[in-house]
Amino acid sequence: MRAVIWEAPGKLATTEVADPAPRHGELVIQVSACGICGTDLHIADGEFPPTPYPIIPGHEFAGRVAARGDGIPPGWRDGDRAAVDPSLFCGYCPMCHSGRGNLCENWNAIGDTVNGAFADYVAVPAANAYHLPDSVNDAQGALIEPLSCAVHGLRRIGPVTGHDLLLTGAGTMGLLLLQLLTNAGARSVSVVDRKPSRLAAATAAGAKEVAEDVSGLDGRTFGVVVDATGAPAAIEAGFGALDRGGRLLVFGVTSADAAVSLSPFRIYNDEITVLGSMAVLNSFGAAADLMAAGSIDTSPLLGMPFTISPGTGQRPQRRGHQSPGHPRANTVSVDTSPGPEPYPDPSAQEGRHQGVLLTGADGADGPKAFYIHIEARPGKTGEVRQMLHDILGCVLDEPATGPWFGVQYSPTTFGIFEVFTNLSGRQAHVDGGGGDIFRDLERMNAILAHPAHVYRLDVLMSKQVFTT
Ligand SMILES: [Zn+2]
Ligand SMILES: [Zn+2]
Repeated sequence: MRAVIWEAPGKLATTEVADPAPRHGELVIQVSACGICGTDLHIADGEFPPTPYPIIPGHEFAGRVAARGDGIPPGWRDGDRAAVDPSLFCGYCPMCHSGRGNLCENWNAIGDTVNGAFADYVAVPAANAYHLPDSVNDAQGALIEPLSCAVHGLRRIGPVTGHDLLLTGAGTMGLLLLQLLTNAGARSVSVVDRKPSRLAAATAAGAKEVAEDVSGLDGRTFGVVVDATGAPAAIEAGFGALDRGGRLLVFGVTSADAAVSLSPFRIYNDEITVLGSMAVLNSFGAAADLMAAGSIDTSPLLGMPFTISPGTGQRPQRRGHQSPGHPRANTVSVDTSPGPEPYPDPSAQEGRHQGVLLTGADGADGPKAFYIHIEARPGKTGEVRQMLHDILGCVLDEPATGPWFGVQYSPTTFGIFEVFTNLSGRQAHVDGGGGDIFRDLERMNAILAHPAHVYRLDVLMSKQVFTT
């Protein structure tokens, strides 16, 4: 089967591996859709401590039952559609025994610590699989996992009915939380995000007011603040906006070594409650039910789809290649004009190259995460390397640099560059948010498509991937 594998932090391969066989109690799922999560980007960068390498990532997924092991509970047939809770709790540690399996001392998760769903097939415990009704499509099925995290977050924060709430961060998780908080009876939800397009989505999803910074809320205070950014500055600002007696939910994932400064005097004097919410705990079924009931508008949450390109990531490659997925406005698409032949033979191939078009259209955020494989022309390695450095802000001869990039650089006859990047994240990293992502895309397109510099390009990534 085809699979995307992180061989090491920053080193991604798209390759063929053996199909998984179902063990006792397992289903093999043929993957229809799989999301990219912020956690996947941490895994890409080697910043998610539980992850071993190599690993096939992908923990937000849905598909069809393709094979069944022994001991499967009744009700599962080949071809049944399913969404899967990726949680793998040991069941015997003190946390599991006390009903808090998400804090399991031996915590594992499909796609995080064992092979996941950026592949044609994935083996899962049947106990983790949930039937998908026809009313939930594959991409929505893959959204049940992040929704189940949001459901757990709401259970942690407690009642919100009648409260004025502040939500920092309006990415996928923020928009899911916003809908749940509104449905749970919040009197109002104010939303802060640096990106105007996200604020527009938040307004459409029911936010009472939006601002690009907490300081834009005119000093208002809130009984409940939910952070869905994982940005220490946003957490501190949210804490500062709490009413006396308020509750702060830290939902977004910071890096493991991040620190925030909170006033212990305020926590004491104002009886502030600070809560965390970690992943999924007995909340997957509730999320699946909410999705099946049509309670969640998923339209603003689904971004561009990618496909797995078989054989890519290996050289030499076949001539030409398919456009990934179903090209549409907000998508990464590949010019499918014929590639060089024979390959590689740069002396005979002047003026021929594979072009790439990286687009973000209709005011959407544009590509958030993608993986490109570039081969520079002989003698142009330095220029292309510098170009990538200038545009992406990464250093190409280090295996993984910074929180936003996984980069591999292999000096050969051609310069081979493999870049896994998060343009939206980089934008936030470089200029603190806002800015014009499309400007950089144009620059990248112009330079990468230039036959004098680049011999070959591929865009590689999983199928039906949408950004979270
Ligand atoms: Zn996730
Ligand atoms: Zn345990």
